[in-house]
Amino acid sequence: MRLILLGAPGAGKGTVAKMLTKIDGSVQISTGDILRAAVKNGTDLGKKAKEFMDAGDLVPDELIMGIMKDRLREDDCKAGYLLDGFPRTIPQAEQLKVLLEEIGHKLDAVVNLNVPRDVILDRLTTRRTCTDCGAIYNVKSNPPKEEGKCDKCGGPVVQRDDETEEAISNRLDVYNEKTAPLADFYKGEGMLLDIEATSSDTVVDAIKGHVGI
Ligand code: AMP
Repeated sequence: MRLILLGAPGAGKGTVAKMLTKIDGSVQISTGDILRAAVKNGTDLGKKAKEFMDAGDLVPDELIMGIMKDRLREDDCKAGYLLDGFPRTIPQAEQLKVLLEEIGHKLDAVVNLNVPRDVILDRLTTRRTCTDCGAIYNVKSNPPKEEGKCDKCGGPVVQRDDETEEAISNRLDVYNEKTAPLADFYKGEGMLLDIEATSSDTVVDAIKGHVGI
């Protein structure tokens, strides 16, 4: 399947994407994960992106489109993909439309995960992430078996630099201003599937029903 997952930070896009990859071999493409790896490895891209990310601001569209133009042409995308955290602005959505036409790909749906703001805030402040494999934990509801150590790969499980209270609040404002309008954009394209996303299992079932798998 080829899907875009829309939703505020903490809405569960990453968790849902990981569950969907197990169903039909589609790959999860998270621009946030790609950027965090670039920052960790000290690449040019990482150096350009770090300041924006730490403040909870968006990385410029040109950098993101540069990444995605190559990424969507890679071989593993033939099995389908779940775009997690991309597009995040109207210009990215418009450029993605052109890119998809160029490479002959058609999306199955754009899924919008709606979650109340208080739930989002609670999830983001208690979320922990493995810096090696990206596995997501929660200190309250799903901690790693050994504190600070990933169950899956043994990597370090930490709070992300952009998950301080100040950066979270900025990320939510940026989301409302720049990313939330994408729901209307895709509604206009006839592709939007709006879901009340309080549990990941319900979301996955709704997507499966919609896509017909
Ligand atoms: P995420 O893991 O999706 O929450 O992304 C973490 C950070 O990476 C965001 O707060 C942005 O700074 C940056 N980022 C990720 N995806 C994009 C995108 N599509 N456009 C602009 N910035 C992005």
